[in-house]
This record gives sequence, structure tokens and C-alpha cells, in this order.
Amino acid sequence: MTSSASPGQLKEAQTIGIVGSWEMDFVARTLTFSDTLLELHGMPDDGRVTDYQMVRARVHPLDRPAISQSLRRVLGGELVTTARYRICDEAGQPVRWMYARFKAFQDSGGAVIRIVGTVADITEHVQAEEELRQAHAELSQAHSYQQAVITASPDAIHIFDVGSQTVFRANRLAPELIGYTHAMISVMGGADLDRLLPAEDLLRYNAALQEARHAPDGEVVQLRHRVLNPDGSVQWMSRRLTPFQRSENREVTQVLIVSRDVSDVVEVEERLEHAALHDELTGLPNRRLVRNRLEHALQRVERRGHVAVLFCDLDGFKRINDSHGHPVGDSVLVVTARRLSAATRAGDTVARMGGDEFVVMVEVPEAEDPGTLAQVVAERIEAAMSDPILVDNDEHTVTVSIGICVAEENSTAESLLNDADTAMYFAKSKGSNGHAVFAPELRRDTIGRDHIERQIRRAMSADAVQAHFQPIVNPLDDSLYGVEALVRITDSEGTLLDTGKVVSVAEQTGLITALDEAVFRRSARQVAAWRARPEYAQLMLTVNCSARNIAQSGFYDRVHAVLAESGLDPRALTIEVTETVLLDVADAALNDLRRLRRDGVGLAIDDFGTGYASLRYLATLPITCLKIDRSFTSGLPEDETCMTLVRTTIGLAEDLGIRCVVEGVETTEQLIALPRYDGLLIQGYLYGRPQPAESMAVLSIRNPRLLTAS
Ligand code: C2E
Ligand code: MG
Ligand code: MG
Repeated sequence: MTSSASPGQLKEAQTIGIVGSWEMDFVARTLTFSDTLLELHGMPDDGRVTDYQMVRARVHPLDRPAISQSLRRVLGGELVTTARYRICDEAGQPVRWMYARFKAFQDSGGAVIRIVGTVADITEHVQAEEELRQAHAELSQAHSYQQAVITASPDAIHIFDVGSQTVFRANRLAPELIGYTHAMISVMGGADLDRLLPAEDLLRYNAALQEARHAPDGEVVQLRHRVLNPDGSVQWMSRRLTPFQRSENREVTQVLIVSRDVSDVVEVEERLEHAALHDELTGLPNRRLVRNRLEHALQRVERRGHVAVLFCDLDGFKRINDSHGHPVGDSVLVVTARRLSAATRAGDTVARMGGDEFVVMVEVPEAEDPGTLAQVVAERIEAAMSDPILVDNDEHTVTVSIGICVAEENSTAESLLNDADTAMYFAKSKGSNGHAVFAPELRRDTIGRDHIERQIRRAMSADAVQAHFQPIVNPLDDSLYGVEALVRITDSEGTLLDTGKVVSVAEQTGLITALDEAVFRRSARQVAAWRARPEYAQLMLTVNCSARNIAQSGFYDRVHAVLAESGLDPRALTIEVTETVLLDVADAALNDLRRLRRDGVGLAIDDFGTGYASLRYLATLPITCLKIDRSFTSGLPEDETCMTLVRTTIGLAEDLGIRCVVEGVETTEQLIALPRYDGLLIQGYLYGRPQPAESMAVLSIRNPRLLTAS
């Protein structure tokens, strides 16, 4: 309890106003209280109160010493003293805060002859003080919380000051993590950055800084870049930049930068990328890589018509494999790979498609005729393969059938490979060991495609596009996490069409956007209905989106229209895109994906591991899930390459703190082979096949693994 008040408090009391007074006259020997004071102290004002003790009885016991002391001090010679005290009600509960002032009047000899006391009510003032004190305490707690988080963070955190172009503040880890001294850190962002970052990365870094300076609060700009270490090694940094301080006119004056050393992740990615793109046995590029190289070659418009594909298939390989065993077969494939490489030029790509199928992609120089050159290469290959192959002193003769296709105006990687394959079959059908050039008449499935296109159009106009649902399950407790919607179309006879073909025809004919939307609309409505049931309130929906669909303007609005119409929570939706798709879409489309993510929509990479160089997107897109392609799962647990790929991808997801769906899990052995990770989910026949909603089998069983019985 305070017994004397600060000047500020005095002033406060004066402004509040005196509410009561009393007087002690030592000459007249009287003690009088004003009515108001008595009233405040809960006393009757009938003139009976003359006793100081009676008034004092209502003062809070803890505050009484303060008053006594103040009184003693004026009696002892001080002219003015003050005290704060609380007045209590009859029950002894404090009800008001008072401020008392004691003033002494002395005679000429200095003896106190009279004391006048005034009292003011400062209850509200004290309350305000208390609130202020509490606010202060909370603020300093929040501040120390922030400090603690920043200090304990495993990331390097620093604040970049835009005006001075220097680092304003950095946590302990910042220098340690980046491998530079504190002094060097302080210029990370200043002029010295150009020594530390490769030119191209510096440009991107500065662009990110600019973007962060113009971003709204709460927005995070991400980038990855290299840092050249003093010892010459290269480090990969992941950076997240966000506006931190603004000036009065709302301009960003400081940017908060969170940095993490992702060199390990990048190394894993590079290894993963190599493994995903090369054939283990021969070391040649695989199907994915050749497809991507083809796509890139076709993109260089001026080269159109100057790319040829030779599809090579060994004749009689199966016989060798069956009669001499796999090791011999493998040796034959390795020698074949070497001979094919020797028969082509440096710029050409030789790839193994799988089994005994190889593809040679020939980039034809401007001056040469692609058709002629392709035939020359084919003949060279035939000649190279004509010598017997020696394995363990046994001679093996293998010949090769080759299908040639030269790119035209509207060729795609897919169509080139398909057409070359078709030509190869034609060559084989004429008798092995020869080559054939593709002609449209050879396309066996043109008719099939027309049929499928008609069926898609028919289904769409009759609103008969169906969605089947496949469960996505958390393997830790076999609980249902969500469902993936997969398109299903039946033809006029009621036969289910092959979904892969339907999607591919829809892609080629531009029907895919409408098809995607039909599936999305139907499944969103269905899942919203399921979520209305308490036991499935958390059920998630995953839909597939084609690149064309995402690239078409208004993707963001179209997604929202369906969400609004179905009442599906955006946070219940995940959009799946394939890696290769992400390579194709423009910045505007990527922006739509980012905006959707901000609304809570998840973004999954489908068929992860089958794409090319797409891992870069992990850093720039807000991806929430990786889906490991079925082709890797099918090799589990025996195939080492598949095993490594699956394990590394799950590790990558764990590092990124995102979910990982393993697709195509068909057996318990495959399930057991997977590493444990909390964010791991399973989608595969082991837990359930895609089902129509009506059958409800997807949802009706508590343990979905029992569905395999169906
Ligand atoms: P996806 O998105 O990777 O879907 C998974 C595919 O794997 C489905 O084939 C599913 O039936 C199949 N699958 C799942 N578990 C297993 C398993 O344990 N074993 C085997 N052998 N297969 C399994 P589906 O339904 O034939 O679809 C093929 C692909 O067509 C999809 O691959 C997706 O890329 C595409 N697709 C399907 N529906 C749509 C759609 O509405 N829009 C678009 N744009 N693409 C779609
Ligand atoms: Mg999918
Ligand atoms: Mg997939």
C-alpha cells in the first residue's frame, strides 16, 4: 500500500475532485467529518459519529498502517502527507479506492494545532492503472515468447531493413547455418550478395525481395538459391520472405527472412531424379526421360519436323531369356544398349523403354532430310546388331525390328512414341529384322479413339459422366482419410471404357476441361453429403486436374463455383496434378493454384517420380501432398530401385512436412515394406478398389482393408 503519492497521482486526485473532508482541531478539541465522507464510509450522518475509530473501521485492515503513518508524519512536523486506502462494505469487502491528503496547521512555535484531511475517490483511476499493468505484463510475455521462438528456431531468421539495405537483426543460428560470420550475414542482402550468390540466383533473390516488399501482410514469398561458400562448395538455401514492418504510409520497411539449409534435400532430389529418369540395368535414359526430351525438342518450334523417333524391339530376346536365364538376358540387353549408343550421334538419345524395347530419338540438323536420316540410323542399328553377342563364351544372335516416326506439325511426345511403336509392330509383322516408317493407316486404334470420343460426348450431354471413389487410408489405424474421384464412362452398350484411354482422348480433343468439371461437380456434391454424416465429417476429396484445365483462364473461379454450389468446404478438397503438367502451365495458372491453396485447397503431385526436373516446383508451389506412382509400388519389396525411390520420396515428404500417398498398394508385403511416417497414406486395391458412390462399400465398412474381399 502506498502511503505517499507521486505528483501524477496528486494531480489525478485533484482532477477527480475532493469528495469528503474531516478536521481535527487540537485547540478546540473537536473532530468533525463531512457528511459525504461519512456516507462514503457507510456511516449514518446523524451527528453521532465523532469517533475516529468508527470511521477507521471501514478502512481495509491492510491499508490502516498507511493512514496511521501519514497521520504520524504530519503530527511529527511534515506539512502535507498522503495515503491510499480501500473502503470496505459491512461484510469487509473492499468496494472503493480512496486517496487521502493530510495537511497540518502549526502555530508560530511549530506545534500542530489543526489537521485537515481531504479524501478523493480514485477507484476508476486505480482500475485503469491495473489494466495498464496487466496489458504491460501480457505484452512483455508475448515479446519474450517471440524472442524464445526465434532463438529456438532451427532456421536462420533475420530481418532485412529495406532503407539501409542491411540485416537489422539475426538469430544465433543465422551465421552458423549459412556458414558465414555474423559480419558477413549482416551484408546478406547488401552489396556483397553478388559475391555470395551466382548471378542467376542473385536475380531471383532480388526479385523475391521485391515481391515480398509489395506483398500483403501474411503472404510468404519462397525461393531456393545457391550460396557459394568461402571454401568453394555450393550450398542450397531455402528462403521464406514476408513483410515485417511498415511505415506510416504502409510501405514495407523491413522484411523477415527465414532461411534453411536444404543442401541435403537437393542432393536427395538429384539422386531421386537420376534414379527416376534412368534405367538401372543399362544406365540409359528411361521412358520418362526420353518422353521429356521429346517434349522439349518439340517445344523448340523451329525444330518441328526435325525430330524422329526409332522404336526398336529385339527379335528373339524372350527365347534367350527363357533358355539361358535372366543374367544372360541382362548381359544381352547391356551389350545392345552399348551398340545402339555407338550407332547414334552424340546429340541423339538412346533410351530403354523396358523389357527388350529401346527408343532412339534423333534430332535432325536443319540441312538434312529427317526421313532419310532416320532410315540411315535404322540401317546402322541393324548392322550393329547383326554381329552375334558373346556372353560367357556363348554366342547369341538377336536382330531388331524398328518403327520410325518423324514429327509433324501437331505431334506430341506421346503420339510420336505411339506411332513409332505402331510402325515397329508393322515391321515385325512383315518378318523380323527390318524397319518400317509410320503411316496413319497403320494406326490400329484410330477407330477406337473415335468411338471413345463419341462416347465421352454422349455421356456428357446425357449427364452420365460418373465418378468412382477409391479410399485413401491412414495405415497406422486403418482409418479412412478420404477418397479420390476417378472418372468412369460406360458406352451405349453399358461396357465400362478404359479410364486411361478416356482421359487421353479427352486430352487430345479438348474435352478434358468439361470432363474434369463434370467429375468434380458430381464428387463434390457426393462428398459434401457424406461429410454431413458425423462419422465422415472429416472425409477428404481428391480430384484429378488436367494441365489444359488448369491453364484455361478462370480456373480459380471455376473451382470456387463448384465448391459454392456443392457446399463443400475448400479445406476438404485436394487437387491432383501430375508432375509433367506443372511444367507446362503458365505463371497465371500457377498463381491460381497458389490462390486456391490460400483458400485451404490442398495440392497434390500425382504420379510423383515419373516427371522430369519438376522437383523444383516443390520449392515454389505450396504442395501439400506427394503421390507415389503405382509403377514404383509394384516393384516392392524386391526391386531395390523402387524401394529406394519410395523410401526417399517418403523421406522427402517428411522433410517438407507434407503428406505422402503411396498408390497401388495391393499386398500386405508392400504395405509392410513402407517406412513409418505419420503423414503416410495408402491408396490401393489392398484397401479398396474404386467404387461407385451408390455401392457405398467405400464407406460402409469400418476397416476398409476388408474391402479387398470385393
Ligand atoms: P491416378 O490419378 O494416378 O489414379 C490412380 C489409378 O490407379 C486409378 O486408375 C486407380 O484405379 C488405379 N489404382 C489404384 N489402386 C490400384 C492398385 O492397387 N492396383 C492397380 N493395378 N491399380 C490401382 P484409373 O481409374 O484407371 O485412372 C487412371 C488415371 O486417369 C488416373 O491416375 C488419372 O491420372 C486419370 N484420371 C482419372 N479420372 C480423371 C479425371 O476425372 N480427370 C483427369 N484429368 N484425369 C483422370
Ligand atoms: Mg490421381
Ligand atoms: Mg497417380
